[in-house]
Amino acid sequence: MSIFSKHFPLGLGTSRLPVSGPGDTDGIENSIQLVHKALELGISYIDVGYNYSAGMAPLVLKEVFQNTVRPFSVTAKVMYGQDKTADDARRRIEQHLKTMGLEKVQYFTCWSIWNYDIFENIMKKGGIYEGALKLKDEGLVEHICCSLHASPEEIQKIAESKVFEGITISYSLLNAVNMRPVLDTAYANDIGVAVMNPLGGGVIARNQDYFSFACSGNDESSTVHAALRFVKAHPAVDIVLGGVNSMEELKDSLGVFSRPDPETAKERLERVMGSISGLTGFCTGCKYCEGCPQGIPTSAIMQARNTFLFEPPAIYNRKGPEELLYNIHMFRSLFHEEGWIPETSENPCLKCKKCEKLCTQKLEIIDAVADTYRRAGQTYFTKEAHKERLRDLLYQKDYRHVGLYPNGGFANLIIQLYEEFFGEAEFKWLYFNSNPKMWGQIVDKSIVHGPGEIPELRPDFILICSYSYDNEILESLRQYEKYGVRLEKLHRDGEVPWVF
Ligand code: SF4
Ligand code: SF4
Repeated sequence: MSIFSKHFPLGLGTSRLPVSGPGDTDGIENSIQLVHKALELGISYIDVGYNYSAGMAPLVLKEVFQNTVRPFSVTAKVMYGQDKTADDARRRIEQHLKTMGLEKVQYFTCWSIWNYDIFENIMKKGGIYEGALKLKDEGLVEHICCSLHASPEEIQKIAESKVFEGITISYSLLNAVNMRPVLDTAYANDIGVAVMNPLGGGVIARNQDYFSFACSGNDESSTVHAALRFVKAHPAVDIVLGGVNSMEELKDSLGVFSRPDPETAKERLERVMGSISGLTGFCTGCKYCEGCPQGIPTSAIMQARNTFLFEPPAIYNRKGPEELLYNIHMFRSLFHEEGWIPETSENPCLKCKKCEKLCTQKLEIIDAVADTYRRAGQTYFTKEAHKERLRDLLYQKDYRHVGLYPNGGFANLIIQLYEEFFGEAEFKWLYFNSNPKMWGQIVDKSIVHGPGEIPELRPDFILICSYSYDNEILESLRQYEKYGVRLEKLHRDGEVPWVF
């Protein structure tokens, strides 16, 4: 029995509520009705982040929580990076409680642990985990959990540390082979498991024919239903998170878990796992091909290249061209799963065929590796290319002040890389952000400025770091060029983001 066992197997994800922002009164009302309905129908686990559904999800929940008699359990998330210390964690949780109008929350979630280093930082003395323990002692949170995006090996190591009572992980037909050891570990240690992305981030819903092998004769021919049942079939999985956007979606997902599975869990699990390896051209992530003498991460590359089997969805505000979307999805997966970015675009493969001989799916790994390095060069996704771009934009330009717009992940990476490549900057970095809530805040010992301060601060150069909104930011800043400020985007057309 895990801490999540008491919940209805469908959990409510709140990142896709039908609301577009604070002015969307109809959307707010519809979202409130949707959450009320979910609780009324028996859902009791609610997953929320402060920025979900255009930042409106916590406010929608507050309204619901104040007017329901139904039981519910909700997450409060603290992310390493935004917060680092035990005191930061306390401040963040108090803020979440206030926003949702609650006196306590069931699940303290260490949000988005991307790798083992982040886990170690969370666990440091005086760090976030220590803060969580104090909050638990005081009764402000009941359980300490986390959500994980690390590699399966790292997730397993983190689970084996047994410091978390519940984990939220991505699990679906797409990564089932890889994630099975993680689930087995969680089950053996009574760690609760909530599953995000049960439909592979939409890939399965968009490609139902391809994944129809998941259906048994009694799955109403619905690949989506079969895929959801498959995820729940592993005994470690307590909750399958479904992001809902409408009553129809809510009722459809709920129906899957309200009726008994027509197949036993064991049968479904074994039947589907057996079929996954029968997919043509699909890398199952079995990792038999690993051990390349040149250190090429063959299995991670091949798994990331599964994206070429399907039509690529729009991402990061880019709707095309298709090649760019493929490249973004592939390198994003490689970056998340493996932390991989090649030094250069030169392919180090010796064509020794060691990997291909071991591949259970008989995939053409050598050609795929060559194509991946070619694409890395084409999209500027190499360390060498990043160094050249920073040299070209910033190094020895006699700048006194360089603005990074906006502050955040890209800006942090740029400073880190600049120092790694060229040493400490000979100019002063300035942070800018369009969000008034950020103005005046101290981030990494620097104050965040609004664009209105540009005429006074007179940076020599502003680097637009955002990928998703680079053109919009550039246009909004054009008015400041008359003050002698040079503006440039970090990313050029056809390139993939430096940060995913
Ligand atoms: S063929 Fe290339 S990628 Fe495969 S093991 Fe040999 S060097 Fe590595
Ligand atoms: S052996 Fe083949 S199927 Fe298995 S991870 Fe490697 S490329 Fe993928």
